[in-house]
Amino acid sequence: MSALLEVKGLKKYFPIRDGVLSKVQSHVKAVDDVSFVVQEGETLGIVGESGCGKSTTGRAIMRLSEPTAGEVWFQGQNLIELKDDAMRKMRRDLQIVFQDPFASLNPRMTVGAILEEPLKIHGLASAAERKERVLEILKIVGLTEQHASYYPHQFSGGQRQRIGIARALITKPKLVIADEPVSALDVSIQSQILNLMKDLQEQFGLTYLFISHDLSVVRHISDRVGVMYLGRLVELAPKGLMYANPLHPYTRALMSAVPSPNPREKRERIILTGDVPSPANPPTGCAFHTRCPVAIESCKSERPVMKETQEGHFVACHLY
Ligand code: SF4
Ligand code: MG
Repeated sequence: MSALLEVKGLKKYFPIRDGVLSKVQSHVKAVDDVSFVVQEGETLGIVGESGCGKSTTGRAIMRLSEPTAGEVWFQGQNLIELKDDAMRKMRRDLQIVFQDPFASLNPRMTVGAILEEPLKIHGLASAAERKERVLEILKIVGLTEQHASYYPHQFSGGQRQRIGIARALITKPKLVIADEPVSALDVSIQSQILNLMKDLQEQFGLTYLFISHDLSVVRHISDRVGVMYLGRLVELAPKGLMYANPLHPYTRALMSAVPSPNPREKRERIILTGDVPSPANPPTGCAFHTRCPVAIESCKSERPVMKETQEGHFVACHLY
């Protein structure tokens, strides 16, 4: 396997001002020095509570939100340095599926027009070929040719997400960033969409960066899993290791809250006390020290760096 995406020291800080014109008071460190690699053909799941910076990470990679610092290497180029034109072209190979398919589909356009749009933007195929590709992709995602003339409101939530996926795939991308793609759906529909995404991955050799707050969903779809807390990646491991032997105290607490499908993975419930601190004013040292049940003195002052404890299993915690 080779790396398709390499994120190095990615930061996204949002300035905080008192009023629109007043000077910057401080920053919300939504993504604070995050690094990871996504291998070609794999699914890397990124999990964490809302506000941990996982969506912002996805958006910063795609430059839908301009990163403050860092590098994003994709197909031999650092996306951060690309001019707007070159970045637009790159988006053909790098697509995103959003959480709320309804909000992301133009209600005044037919599904056929919605799906054709990315092909037009990228100047791909003739008008006749574009129409053909639209009909083809509809069938691939489990809809019908007739659906091309329907409007988004005529579909159920699950069908709308199939359209969202079709729109992302129509340019034949290599990497798809999926940001909570099933979180707005009923549980029974969730597994249909996840299975569809798995099938499409196999069929088209796709690579996924799959963002979710839901540990069970991430477990279902991922090959490797990264855990984020307050803008930082705190643990990264192959799925089996992560779920069988979570190392970071935060990961352990998260995992202890969900029932495991494997009865041998018995864990005691760990209840975290205290609220998640504000990313505008994150704790010094380890950002988790204010809630960590096993913190030691150095946690307050020294920021832990990622260490590899066994092959492919990385953790940022002073206990290791
Ligand atoms: Fe807890 Fe310290 Fe590890 Fe942070 S570094 S998770 S505070 S033990
Ligand atoms: Mg989010």
